[in-house]
Amino acid sequence: MPPPQAVNVTATAPKTLADRIEDLLPQTQCTKCGYPACRPYAEAIAAGVASHNQCPPGGIEGVARLARLLGKPVIPLNPENGVERPRPLAVIDESVCIGCTLCMQACPVDAIVGAAKQMHTIIPELCTGCDLCVPPCPVDCIAMIPVTGDKTGWEAWTQHDADAARDRHDRRLARLASEREAAEARAAARQAGRQPTEASNVQASTVAPATDDATDNADAKKRAIIQAALERARKKKEELAKLGAEPKNTERVSADVQAQIDAAEERRRRLGLKRGDAPEKNDSDH
Ligand code: SF4
Ligand code: SF4
Ligand code: SF4
Repeated sequence: MPPPQAVNVTATAPKTLADRIEDLLPQTQCTKCGYPACRPYAEAIAAGVASHNQCPPGGIEGVARLARLLGKPVIPLNPENGVERPRPLAVIDESVCIGCTLCMQACPVDAIVGAAKQMHTIIPELCTGCDLCVPPCPVDCIAMIPVTGDKTGWEAWTQHDADAARDRHDRRLARLASEREAAEARAAARQAGRQPTEASNVQASTVAPATDDATDNADAKKRAIIQAALERARKKKEELAKLGAEPKNTERVSADVQAQIDAAEERRRRLGLKRGDAPEKNDSDH
C-alpha cells in the first residue's frame, strides 16, 4: 500500500471574540471610547468590562453592529463618550505653525508630515478626524473642519477607510516599538562604554564645568528661539482673532490626551517658558 501523501495545510487561528469586535470598529483610534485605541476597547467589550455604546465615530450604526454580534439590544450612544457627528478633517494654519512636532507625535495614523522647526501639513486622505492633534498644539493652529455634510458615523466612513486606518495604526505601533528598542540599545551601549575607572572619573570631573557651560548656552539659545516663535505666533493669532478667523479647539479630551497635554506643559516648563508666555490654549477641549 503506498504511503499517504503529505497534505499542505496552513493552520489559521480562529478569530477570538475581541478580534471579531475589533473588525466592526471604525479604527479612527480616537480614544473617545475611554481606551487608548480601538483594539483595547474591543478587548474590554470581549472581557465584559465595557459596554458596546462607547464609540462615537461608529455612531448608532456601530452600536447596532456590535449588538448583533454580541446578541445585545441596540442602546443609545453613551453621551459621556461624545456625540455622533459629521466626520471632520484636521487643517493646520501653516502661517501660525511653529514646527514643534507635537501634533505629529499625537497622530495615531501618521497623517501629519513635517520636520522640527518647519511648518507641518496634514494629508487629508489619511486623517481619521480623531481630534488628537488639536489639544497638544501650543499655538492652537489646528482646526477640525466637518467634511461629510449631514452624514455621520458609518455613513461618513467606509470599511475601506477603517481598514486603511487600522493598517497605518498598526504600522505606527511597530515603528514606535522598533525606535524604542533602538534607543534602549544605544543607551545600553553608551552605559557599557562608560565603565568608569578612577582615572576617567578624575578627568570627567575636570571637564564637567565646560560641558555644563556649553549645555547652558545651548539651552538658552533654544529658549530664545522658541520664545521668538511663540511671540510671532501670538501676534499672528491676535491678527486672525481681529478678523474673526482664529482656529478653534473642540470638545473634551480623554485621559490619554490629557496626559499628552500635561507632557507638553512639562516640556514647556523644562524649557523655562511660563504658561503665559505662549498664546492662550483652550484647556476645556474634549
Ligand atoms: S474609533 Fe475611537 S471611540 Fe471608536 S473604538 Fe476606536 S478609539 Fe474607541
Ligand atoms: S491629523 Fe489630527 S485629526 Fe487627523 S488623524 Fe492625525 S491626529 Fe487625528
Ligand atoms: S502642534 Fe501646532 S505648532 Fe506644533 S507642529 Fe503641529 S501644528 Fe505646528
